Amino acid sequence: MNYNITNILQGIWKLADQTGPVAIMEVCGTHTSSIRQYGIPSLLPPNIRLVSGPGCPVCVTSSADIAAAIALASLDEVIFTCFGDMMRVPNGDVSLYSLYEQGRDIRLVTSPLDALTIAQEYPEKQVVYFGIGFETTAPHTAVLVEKAAQAKVRNLSILNSHKTMPQAITALLQNESSIDALLCPGHVAAMIGAEAFAFVPEKLQLPAAIAGFAADEILAAILAIMDLLHKQKLDCVNMYPQFVTPAGNRSALNLLYRVMEPCDAIWRGLGSLPQSGLQFRPAYRDFEARTRFNIEKTETTEPKDCLCAAILRGKAIPPNCVHFSRDCTPDAPVGPCMVSSEGACAAYYRYREE
Ligand code: SF4
Repeated sequence: MNYNITNILQGIWKLADQTGPVAIMEVCGTHTSSIRQYGIPSLLPPNIRLVSGPGCPVCVTSSADIAAAIALASLDEVIFTCFGDMMRVPNGDVSLYSLYEQGRDIRLVTSPLDALTIAQEYPEKQVVYFGIGFETTAPHTAVLVEKAAQAKVRNLSILNSHKTMPQAITALLQNESSIDALLCPGHVAAMIGAEAFAFVPEKLQLPAAIAGFAADEILAAILAIMDLLHKQKLDCVNMYPQFVTPAGNRSALNLLYRVMEPCDAIWRGLGSLPQSGLQFRPAYRDFEARTRFNIEKTETTEPKDCLCAAILRGKAIPPNCVHFSRDCTPDAPVGPCMVSSEGACAAYYRYREE
């Protein structure tokens, strides 16, 4: 959808004249990255503040899950597979990347199904796939598990750290008064549908807009939010209708919930949130790597003075951290928010003003 940016900005500035200070939280790591890349904060009136939330899948993966990944990848019989972003997340002095440098068999995949191919190529090994992310990536892990079950592949398992977004937003914002509106994640909404975000105005009493990822799409959604705030109207407007339908992608969701079911999950920065994770249904529980390898308790080490937890709750911004751009950079990250391009620290660092 093509928008006229000049008209949108004029509209935002005009409405901002009539509102007090406004804090809008974006709960999508891709939005965080786009907002910094396009310099959107510098285009907005000073009384509109954009706040990053818990939308980066790498960042919200708990340190316990990172420790479990490191424990699994350290086993001689295991070929550990994951997406590249997970390699550099540290747990103390160790990361998957440092294990790889020591010679452990850790392989990057571009699709979860690559793990199935590797398992079939190496029947004498145990292949573990690290499944992270929200409703957008979990269906792909469900496909992997269903295909492995159908093919009777027994040497594949999943370190399942998938999470669902609405429960985290609710837990974060239900007693929160410092956020005035929400920029909802377009990718997740494409999967679960616009109607799934009705809880934001109804339960959280916040106006919201579902947004795409181009500069004009983000600005158009901010204008829609300002309009709702100005009219004091509680609604969630779908500003990404070319990809987001009211009901979402039912076939992908059916597949996902055929294989997984909701469970409590631990989020970095947010703690344990009821029904915010996805575990395998009993028929597929053999595929859970923690059970197969008896990985129950793992040593976790939070980086000293790292503000990732506060950043994921919208309570701090990356430059508040003593490590930011000093000893913490994308090449040498101290905490997870500097690892992924969707992390707030990485986005602030990459698009910082020198
Ligand atoms: S700058 Fe580094 S250490 Fe500080 S909050 Fe971000 S990731 Fe954590």
